[in-house]
Amino acid sequence: MADEDGGGTAALDAAAVLDGALEAFITVDRQGRVTRWNPAAERTFGYTTAEALGRPVEELIIPDDYRDAHRHGLAAVAAGGTGRLLGQRLELPARHRDGHLIDVELTLNALDGPAGPEFFAFAHDITERRRAARFGRCELAVATALTSAHDTRAAGEAVLAAVGTTLDWPYAELWLADHDIEGLRCAARWSRPGTDHTPFHIDRAPIGSTAPGVAFSSGQPVWIPDVASGGYARSAIAAEVNLHVTLIVPILGGAAPLGTLAFFGSAVEDPEDLLMTLLSGIAAHVGQYLERRRAEELAVQLARTKDEFVALITHELRNPLSVIVAYGEMLLEDQDTSRERRRLLEAIGRNAANLSAIVNDLLDLARLESGQLTMRAGSTDLCTAVRDALDAAATTTASKRVTVTAHLPDRLAIPGDPTRLRQVADNLIGNAVKYTPPGGTVTVCVADRGDTAELTVADTGIGIPTDERKQLFDRFYRTPTSVESGIPGTGLGLVITRAIVESHRGTITIEDHTGPGTTFIVALPTALPSAVPASTT
Ligand code: ADP
Repeated sequence: MADEDGGGTAALDAAAVLDGALEAFITVDRQGRVTRWNPAAERTFGYTTAEALGRPVEELIIPDDYRDAHRHGLAAVAAGGTGRLLGQRLELPARHRDGHLIDVELTLNALDGPAGPEFFAFAHDITERRRAARFGRCELAVATALTSAHDTRAAGEAVLAAVGTTLDWPYAELWLADHDIEGLRCAARWSRPGTDHTPFHIDRAPIGSTAPGVAFSSGQPVWIPDVASGGYARSAIAAEVNLHVTLIVPILGGAAPLGTLAFFGSAVEDPEDLLMTLLSGIAAHVGQYLERRRAEELAVQLARTKDEFVALITHELRNPLSVIVAYGEMLLEDQDTSRERRRLLEAIGRNAANLSAIVNDLLDLARLESGQLTMRAGSTDLCTAVRDALDAAATTTASKRVTVTAHLPDRLAIPGDPTRLRQVADNLIGNAVKYTPPGGTVTVCVADRGDTAELTVADTGIGIPTDERKQLFDRFYRTPTSVESGIPGTGLGLVITRAIVESHRGTITIEDHTGPGTTFIVALPTALPSAVPASTT
């Protein structure tokens, strides 16, 4: 900086600079006694300058494990050596006045003084920075463990290992609620490699008398500075296997707590809020994982039940029914069958056919819901499917004296499965005729609306009250009017119809109108969706 009165350089007072520095600045003589201790050193290590001056630095801030190395270093430099650590930036643990360890980054150097080498160090506390990095590593390790595990035990072990390794806990346990024993069961445990905690293992933790049970029932983290000092079921064994500080966090589920994560350390330590927050967050991830797995397991079970249901219907009902229908037809063909017997056989045939229809509906439904119903995809003519359905309904229509009018183009090709589209037309036209009293009319239209093909089936029948329309697509739902009218039905046709329409990426709606009659509108795409362009973002 330029001097105001004549071009010289203002001399900075080195002592003032060092006193004002944010870095701790310490000097020690060749015996390792403190000769200088600035205010930042007071703040970093807790000793005042007066307390520190003249005392061996190792007594003040060097952890036990590092003292030998420190002494050797001093002696080597005093004997004329270069000192392995001099001139380097180091990250080392140091001890604070109150006994807890901190991490410091420091640079060490030596200068020759009148009484031999003098050592000086600049240092600052990096405990927070290292803790944040360690927590980050821990969270990443847990996330990786949860995504790659193939079952709950493997996930539990991987999470315990991830936390234990990154946060330096020698032993950890995962406890899960078990309703059969009305307590917790140990689902996974982990010991730091090279250590053995077998005597400490227990498989069950009753709620209340054990630390994992207490955290579980309270839903709150539990910090025990020294579990070996008594008061818990495993206190005596904890002392034997050198486990002391204990942190247990509950794993909270959507409805009830699912279990706890328990971590044990080999020192006696006071509660650390940040650590409890981190581990509570990790327990929440584990909770989400457990709930996801539970849902997946339920889905697998459900799919298995559906498979069994489909197999039951196919083998136990459908096959015997076909036999009944076939033998009934054979007996009817017999010319010697009396009139009365013929009437009875026809009744058996009709009822068996009805049962077959129901069984087929149930089978379709189960297959649709489990994704097993195959749809053939290809270009198909919607008008042919509708014409065939009209032909099939013609006998009933005539006998019921219901007039059917159709407005169809010659052809309307859409991508779809002809058999399933015929089923849609059969259901809607069959319902319209079934729920329309004699003398009524049914109007069937197919129209090309450009992007969609529209099938409309309108009737002048008993109608569906507005407040009942939203339930129409529920399984087995039948309107009270249709039940009271004694019209047979299963309440499955519309469910199947909608599933087929939706698997063709179409929609089915009921026209909103008051008064008698019902109009169903099915809209089906006339083209397959074009490939979605690649995103530019
Ligand atoms: P099902 O006709 O075998 O009972 P659906 O699933 O086809 O079963 O129909 C469900 C219910 O919707 C019917 O029971 C009936 O109450 C009502 N419904 C369906 N179509 C009509 C219609 N065209 N007119 C009046 N009610 C209808």
